[in-house]
Amino acid sequence: MLLVEADGKALLAEAGIAVPPGQETGIGVPVLPGPGPWVVKAQVPVGGRGKAGGIRLCASPAAVAEAAGALLASRLAGHLVASVLVEQAVLGAEHYLSLAVDPAGFGLRILHLAHGGVDVERHGPATPGLLCPPEPASLDAALAAVLPEHKPLRDLAARLGRLLLERELLLAEINPLFVTPTACIAGDAKLVVDLNAIARQPRLRRLIEARPDAYPDALRKLEHGFDYVEIDPEGRIGLLTTGAGLSMMLIDELVARGGRPLNFLDIRTGQLRGSPARIVQALAWMAERPSLRVVLVNIFAGITDLGEFAGLLADALEQAALPVKVIARLVGRGQGEAVRILAERRPGLLVTEDLEQALAATLEWAA
Ligand code: GDP
Ligand code: MN
Repeated sequence: MLLVEADGKALLAEAGIAVPPGQETGIGVPVLPGPGPWVVKAQVPVGGRGKAGGIRLCASPAAVAEAAGALLASRLAGHLVASVLVEQAVLGAEHYLSLAVDPAGFGLRILHLAHGGVDVERHGPATPGLLCPPEPASLDAALAAVLPEHKPLRDLAARLGRLLLERELLLAEINPLFVTPTACIAGDAKLVVDLNAIARQPRLRRLIEARPDAYPDALRKLEHGFDYVEIDPEGRIGLLTTGAGLSMMLIDELVARGGRPLNFLDIRTGQLRGSPARIVQALAWMAERPSLRVVLVNIFAGITDLGEFAGLLADALEQAALPVKVIARLVGRGQGEAVRILAERRPGLLVTEDLEQALAATLEWAA
């Protein structure tokens, strides 16, 4: 999960990386850090804020106040802007530097470009960067091979590398990285946290807990132990699914047919352990959205016993009392038993093993 810039920069600063003087503010008149000009930056956990109008360069205190007023409480790329970061604007060449976990390459991928900024993809063909083993000595050697002989730049990159390794980050990207002959300052921070490592990372956990509005999906996962990601707050189709790949496939299929899925879910049927609580919780999150029209249950069972799952689903639907239609596509072990249980306990529920039929019915009810 991507941290908002202000959290990312807090971690950069703790790692000894220079960031511009800045002040984050929610409501009220922004405090001006330094003599100006300033940049006012919407704090939402997405990339591409510059192109979306979430970054404003301001020459006067009045312009800062105006930009903050316009951005605060607006929506940017689907996120509510709850705060802005007001920074002293920096001047210098805009570089791009990133260190990323490359799962397929079993290592870290280093990418440095002397032309960064919002149009970084436009400047010539993308280079694959350099892959290196994920440990400090190899990383230092690889950085020396990739970076120009510029001491501040190399020093910053080494600190960024240690930060990534110590915090077990999936990505540490700085774009723009302002480079002058004598200094390097991080103009932006895109740090991606690995939630599966969070048990070892209390500092990251505290950052996530301090911003519940910015990180609702991560907080849900920390509290409940499974992934429910709201992908469209105005979505009409709730998904009760297990398996990340299958859930994503379903989202793609629905979107390709013009549907609006509300959420991604990997409920992990193997962890239900005889209790409907997790299903009830997921249904409750779906029911919070007034746009919900239909819930599609899709379970492809290998180890899971669908008979047992069907019993838990019936329990959960009784407790949740959802005001919308439910469609269940169930395939695999215990399928016959599941059909029998649901026919008896939830007669109104459409149960099918056919994906096309399930999708068609879902889209019809969502319309
Ligand atoms: P992003 O679009 O979400 O990656 O947000 P950034 O923080 O990277 O800001 C977008 C763009 O605004 C950058 O690529 C810069 O071109 C510009 N920008 C941001 N901060 C500064 C600054 O301090 N000085 C200058 N000159 N430009 C800035
Ligand atoms: Mn950026």
